[in-house]
Amino acid sequence: MPCDVRFRGRGWALLLAAPSALAACAPPGVQPTSEPASGGAFAPLAELRFDADGESDTFQVVRPPGTDTLALRVRLGTEAALGGPYCLQLVDVVASNGARWVSDGASPDTWGLACHDCAQRVFSAIGAGLYVFPNDGVDLPAEVTGLDARVALRDCATRTPLAPSEAERARLRATVEVGAFALGAGRTLAVSVYVAAPLALADATSLGGALLDEGLAAAASHWAPAGLALRFHEPVLAEVPRTTPADVGAADSGALDALAGEASLALGETAAGGATLILVPCLRAKSLLADAPSEVDGHTPRIPGGFAADGYGDAVLVRTGTCAGPPQPYWLSPAAFGRVVAHELGHYLGLYHIDTPDGLDLHLPDVSWDNLMHHIPSSVVDPGLTARQAHVALHHPLVR
Ligand SMILES: [Zn+2]
Repeated sequence: MPCDVRFRGRGWALLLAAPSALAACAPPGVQPTSEPASGGAFAPLAELRFDADGESDTFQVVRPPGTDTLALRVRLGTEAALGGPYCLQLVDVVASNGARWVSDGASPDTWGLACHDCAQRVFSAIGAGLYVFPNDGVDLPAEVTGLDARVALRDCATRTPLAPSEAERARLRATVEVGAFALGAGRTLAVSVYVAAPLALADATSLGGALLDEGLAAAASHWAPAGLALRFHEPVLAEVPRTTPADVGAADSGALDALAGEASLALGETAAGGATLILVPCLRAKSLLADAPSEVDGHTPRIPGGFAADGYGDAVLVRTGTCAGPPQPYWLSPAAFGRVVAHELGHYLGLYHIDTPDGLDLHLPDVSWDNLMHHIPSSVVDPGLTARQAHVALHHPLVR
């Protein structure tokens, strides 16, 4: 057993009894640092099995002094990926100061795509998950020196608890990695852009070569007042433009994983250490429990995104074309395109909708309706971001 992991019951007696011993045991990736966050600075913490209820034992994460963000990467092994899909959720999260951040796994509060009413929100995803704290828009209290948590299996079709069979229990393993980061001094998110389908304006009179640049600049302008600089890499065009729709589903990530893999190959090293934006001709997403996919302007499969395990799609998707018939240009202006790019990157950085068509309760108390994270961002007049939203985004470990 790694020295930084304590499998045990409730309570922090062990940590309180021997804080110096625990600090000495912290793996390299969670050493205190005053440097900006560096991508991939995660260290293995634990390998977990699941009980008959589909939950792991409690594991303990130590927060080194001087760090602002605690992030957990959880993923199932390759065997599970072959036998899945299985979905994961982080449950029963209790901070060292006694604050309960996430309800226990039997609570319906933790069912569905995201925890409904938790102090810190967690998102359930296929095969792998990223959990970043804080995400409530408030600094982690200095007295929080770590947390307790469990990982729970979820049925991908419903995101409700999955009780594994004996055979599943024998082969399912979740690995947990932890990273602790100081707030990025540069306040910059690098974004790689893979153009699987070219962008053109629906209004042919406005056609211009700078459209993509103008749109991305518009996206950046939404984030600048929040203190975050979006830095887009030079877009990379697909050798053969895609004409078929991108279909993404909450319970089936095969198409997304393939598309993200294609983008990753084309982008190469530039995609490392930042977010990836993929432009597709037509985009259709199937939400939980929906019978059929519906057209959407953009889609972000994981909230937050980033640091995906190998083979799992991790990107922001935005459409360039119509879905009926052969794809035709869709966007009426670079500004409209840019607003959706900015909105989707908000999801990628950990933000949820400020209205609740997805059935989630409001997570941040300072939002108003005129906000970039309205579920239809084109419908608001002045799509700004609040202080708490900016706080969440700036604590994403990919923001340097
Ligand atoms: Zn959205």
